[in-house]
Amino acid sequence: MKHNIVVAIDGTSASGKSTNSKLVARGLGFVYVDTGAMYRTLAWYCLQKGVDVSAAKAVGAACRKWKTQLACVEVDGLRCARLLVEGYFPEKEIRTPETAAAVPHVAAVPKVRDWMKKTQRDCIQFGHLVMEGRDIGTNVFPETDYKFYLDATLAERSARRAADGVNENLAARDRRDSERAAAPLMIALGARVINNSNLTSAETSKLLLDDLRARLPAGSFLQ
Ligand code: C5P
Repeated sequence: MKHNIVVAIDGTSASGKSTNSKLVARGLGFVYVDTGAMYRTLAWYCLQKGVDVSAAKAVGAACRKWKTQLACVEVDGLRCARLLVEGYFPEKEIRTPETAAAVPHVAAVPKVRDWMKKTQRDCIQFGHLVMEGRDIGTNVFPETDYKFYLDATLAERSARRAADGVNENLAARDRRDSERAAAPLMIALGARVINNSNLTSAETSKLLLDDLRARLPAGSFLQ
């Protein structure tokens, strides 16, 4: 278990982290971990319980109290690590505009970040991981040799979200994520930066997979 590998994929909102992380996890036969979903789940939980998400103490207290467990489930042949709250994964609820607006507040609370880091590191029990987020290469698994940072122009990222039917102020969310004191969004030392404004996900994931297949230990991944 100690020797399990982590591929860290960080980047801005709508930079293609989820699509490409899933493609890479499938391609390598690794477990996919969406850490944004974990922060979204806490934001949803706070909204559900009437906790003021801008009150750091109250959010920290909610995070201390909630009853969660990690699970590894298979979805369409892809193994995914998930955070369950009282046995439930709020798959749809965490994608609403209300949750998206609340999540950067929750994610800025240092006690929450400590809890998330520990929980995300515990995912290593499931096997080799492709973990996407904002601070995986800088904070959660800084020791990994496999770090990437995805980005695209704001216009392109906004167009992608709009095509998904989501109208969101991405610039505001990026600003909050980049300016917070605790584990802000930034490029990890040694990360390979890919701007995919003009690339399809097939092209982006090929870049990632070619690079990883050339560097990962033989036998650790699917050919
Ligand atoms: O990736 P996704 O858009 O689902 O992330 C939602 C939010 O969760 C981000 O805007 C950020 O505030 C927070 N997040 C974080 N650190 C991570 C992953 C997500 O702060 N590793």
